[in-house]
Order: sequence, then C-alpha cells, then structure tokens
Amino acid sequence: MFIEIRDLNFKYSNSKTETLKDVSFNMKKGEILSILGESGGGKSTVLRLIAGLEKPSNGSIVIDNRIIFDNNIFILPEKRGIGMVFQDYALFPHMTVDENIKFGLNILKRKEKEDRVKEMLELVNLQEFGKRYPHELSGGQQQRVAIARALAPKPSVLLLDEPFSNLDANLKIKIREELKIILHKAGITSIFVTHDKEDVKSIADKVVILKDGIVAQLGEAKDVE
Ligand code: ADP
Repeated sequence: MFIEIRDLNFKYSNSKTETLKDVSFNMKKGEILSILGESGGGKSTVLRLIAGLEKPSNGSIVIDNRIIFDNNIFILPEKRGIGMVFQDYALFPHMTVDENIKFGLNILKRKEKEDRVKEMLELVNLQEFGKRYPHELSGGQQQRVAIARALAPKPSVLLLDEPFSNLDANLKIKIREELKIILHKAGITSIFVTHDKEDVKSIADKVVILKDGIVAQLGEAKDVE
C-alpha cells in the first residue's frame, strides 16, 4: 500500500475528549480518497496529522514505505513531501499567480523554476493568467492556483480541505469536474475532506466516513448512499 494509516489517536490539548480514535485506512498509489462526515467529526484533524501540523498520541503513518510518524519517529511537515490546499486557498495576495506557484521551488535553478511554473499553469489550464494577482481571479481560478502551487514541488500526496466550500452552488458542478480532471492528469494520490456525498461520488475512488472521530465506514466511493 502506498499510504498506511494505523490506529491514529489524537486529542487537542484544550479538549477533554479524544478527537480521533483508532483511525486507520490504506490507499494505493494514484487513488483519490474522500473523508466524509458532519462538521466537527475530525476530518480536518486527520489531514493535519498526515501533514505533520499536529502530533498523534499513538499510531503510525507510512507513505511510500517511509515511516513519517510512529512512536519513535516524527518527520517535520516540510520533509514529508505532502502538498496541501486549504479551505481559503491561502494564496499570497501581494504575489502574482506565477510568483505564488514559484514560492515553494527555492531549490530549483531559475530556468527549472520557470519550466515548472509553465507546466503547472498548463495542468490547471491557466496559461494566460500568470501575471495576474489573486484578487483578479474567480474563486474557481484561485483554487486552481492553490492546487498548482501545492503540486509544483512534486509532492507524493495532495491533501485538500473542503475544496468546494468557498464556491457558489452553480459553479460547484463545473469545478468538481475540473478538479477531477486535474487530479487524474497529475496522477497524484489525493485525500480530500467534504461533508457532501455528491463530491465523493463524482470524484473519489474510496471513502472513509468519519463520525465523532471514529471510522464508521470505509469503502468504495460509488457505494456511498
Ligand atoms: P471537521 O473537519 O470534521 O469539521 P475538525 O477536525 O475540524 O472536524 O474538528 C474536530 C473536533 O476538534 C471538533 O470538535 C473541533 O471543535 C475540535 N477542534 C478543531 N480544532 C481544534 C483546536 N485547534 N483546538 C481544540 N479543538 C479543536
């Protein structure tokens, strides 16, 4: 398995009860998994643990045969090779689209950076928008920039937290299709969080249903009712 999440337990320091209890699931390379559930169920927390923004109290996380967390090991977030797209996209407002995408590419030479930015703009179909600023883009376009920025350093996994929450209902169907196309074109192993079953059915291969911090169901996305 490409991703192996085993028995993750977690409690926020100011919380009385466990936020996550024995959360486990596996993923194959290139698969798209959705974490589905009502608000407060612990979906975003699972992403935060995988990204390394919080530390589980026990359990293990293995990605591509590399232990990134267990009782003895804690790999820092920036060393995990994980890309993340936040709910609000978190684009840098004072930077152009090109500069936003270039941001995480410091180790590359200038020409390589430019090539990668071009490749990413093509992937998300924004070739003409490199010189614009985030406020000059629609919500859907901003989301595509956030995805391009997250994918530019070639992460092994992409995490997306409620990718559709900031979009109006009319746009949602179109943006869903676009996201599906981008993820498949990139071939990236992805996990996205949502509270909407329709997102799961139209984009994901697998689904984990999270209820009060417990995995209530784990299966094929197409079987979600
Ligand atoms: P979901 O993504 O399913 O809405 P979250 O993972 O955001 O759920 O939250 C799970 C639970 O943890 C909720 O009860 C929430 O209030 C609590 N929680 C989230 N973030 C924090 C935090 N930083 N400190 C304390 N409790 C938190």
